[in-house]
Amino acid sequence: MHATRLGVAAIAAAAFSLLGTAHARAAEPIALAIDASQAATQNVLFAHETMPVKPGALTLYYPKWIPGEHMPVGPIQNLSGIVITGNGAVIPWRRDPRNMYAFELTVPHGVSSLDIAMTYLGATFGSYSSNRLASANMGTIIWDQTLLYPSTGTIQDTVFKPTLTLPGDDWKFATALTGAKRTGNTVTWDAVTLEHLIDSPLDMGVNYRRWDIWHDGDAHAYLNVFGDTPNDIDVSDKVVAHYGKLVREMIAMYGARHWRNYNFLLTVSDVIPGEGIEHHESSDDGGPADYLTNPKVLDRGADLLSHEFNHSWDGKYRMPVGLYQPNLQMPYDDSLLWVYEGMTQYYGNVMSWRDGLRKPAEYPDHIAAVYAYYDNEPGRKWRPLLDTAVSGPFLYNAPRQYVAERRSVDFYSEGELMWLKVDSIIREKTNNRESLDTFAREFFGGKTTGPIVKTYDRADVIAGLQKVLPYDWAGFFKKWVDEIAIHPPNGFTADGWKLVYTDKPSHWVPKSNVWYSLGINAFHGQVVDVRQGSPAWKAGLGVNTTIVAVDGRKFSDDLLYDAIENAKSSHQPIALLVAHTDAYRTISIDYDGGNRYPHLVRIPGTPDRLMDVIKPYTK
Ligand SMILES: [Zn+2]
Repeated sequence: MHATRLGVAAIAAAAFSLLGTAHARAAEPIALAIDASQAATQNVLFAHETMPVKPGALTLYYPKWIPGEHMPVGPIQNLSGIVITGNGAVIPWRRDPRNMYAFELTVPHGVSSLDIAMTYLGATFGSYSSNRLASANMGTIIWDQTLLYPSTGTIQDTVFKPTLTLPGDDWKFATALTGAKRTGNTVTWDAVTLEHLIDSPLDMGVNYRRWDIWHDGDAHAYLNVFGDTPNDIDVSDKVVAHYGKLVREMIAMYGARHWRNYNFLLTVSDVIPGEGIEHHESSDDGGPADYLTNPKVLDRGADLLSHEFNHSWDGKYRMPVGLYQPNLQMPYDDSLLWVYEGMTQYYGNVMSWRDGLRKPAEYPDHIAAVYAYYDNEPGRKWRPLLDTAVSGPFLYNAPRQYVAERRSVDFYSEGELMWLKVDSIIREKTNNRESLDTFAREFFGGKTTGPIVKTYDRADVIAGLQKVLPYDWAGFFKKWVDEIAIHPPNGFTADGWKLVYTDKPSHWVPKSNVWYSLGINAFHGQVVDVRQGSPAWKAGLGVNTTIVAVDGRKFSDDLLYDAIENAKSSHQPIALLVAHTDAYRTISIDYDGGNRYPHLVRIPGTPDRLMDVIKPYTK
């Protein structure tokens, strides 16, 4: 939480240990056994818990607010087959009508342990990690999807002892959990707190490769890749080397780490959807089947692993106090996601250049593309950046239609622009002696520790920046976060660059993009957004519309590009035949401004500090 919104005094950052509590408490752990033997063939998991209890009233919770997803999206609709027994007799339960994630029951006298059976139904829809379970050759185990825990404890002091039965003898696995012992297809791990368990997902599969990409003494970082085919995981040494460099670059910038070993858990598949969810000592990452083998695909998504890895420092070790709760039922205060996600968006991209996956020449136009999008977003006239963070729980899954008027989770990429501006102010005023990296090192680095949580609030961020550069940071965030800002932050100007629009598409903005000319966002002619106030908007175009023809000829992206180009000299309106639901009509767009694509160009005679941002620390 932060002081301005809730009117409370700044709360001192408190440190909590993730790992110490398992040993400190003598409490018997809850045994959680997940049977994934039918996951690859029938997309179900069978879970069994043995839970020590005392007689009397008891409430069991199913995890609702999921760390890293920032939303109340525990996939309760997939939880089925709940049968609770004590001493062999069935114990009835009742769902709390005001909290569908809570199950109430009475433990009879003489019962000291519950047996809880559950079935998790895999689905290919839903939100992030709940839309993926398994393909025929690989799967992910997200522990919070298949467990109940007693309301009497906290996630920090409730201890679980996990066991997993894999689908087959030829299946391998990777996870940050420790102490693995495999007997046949069944694996057990050391007992851990609930907080640590749900922070340690597992990937499993037949086609698996693991690379030891970094080590320092006993500490290692591993790249674990699971594919649907052996070809998909046939990754070149060159690509793997970039990920080794990613780890070195992160350690070089932060000066410390908050993990013992780190495991990138990457699935490459066209069958199960991709995602990226951060954890202290691992990340649950997913890309398309050719993510690591097709250079173009890797270039587009090159910030996936760097983004999630950055969260081990920014998000997991240092966590906004409003996101650190004693259980998974209490709502999050997402209002500092412009730090958690915004600064991670910034460094996730910066690191994808510092680690060499992307070419330096493409960085300025990346910033141009991000800036231009937000500078042409009508929703910024009514919704400040802060409100996109607070509204995160419903904006993540909001419809794509009219996204520019609604705004989306803009705290990511507009956050990236804002942190670029913080960086440029620090670089300018210290003559490039310091940068945002100095703040990152002091705020998120510190001393190397295990996976602990140290919370912070907005005042801590401002104080941390003050130490790097005395400046009105409170006023800065008021302007860019709290208030309506008609234009997004333009840190690149002080860094020696300016935004221009030309008729040349860029590496990041393809020829088919007519957002900056006509004001249409369409995919193969399917209109998903029309910018309010744009030429297309004035001509009456809306969403749920298909562009059928351009000036009397069958629609194609090239044809539309040419029509915009021709209108520059003919000054004639562009005629589009469109189908809106089942009705056809012709609209006439009055526009002769030509094709427009955003680029950054150098301001002559100024120092270039933008390219300094992506300079690597290591060889
Ligand atoms: Zn993130």
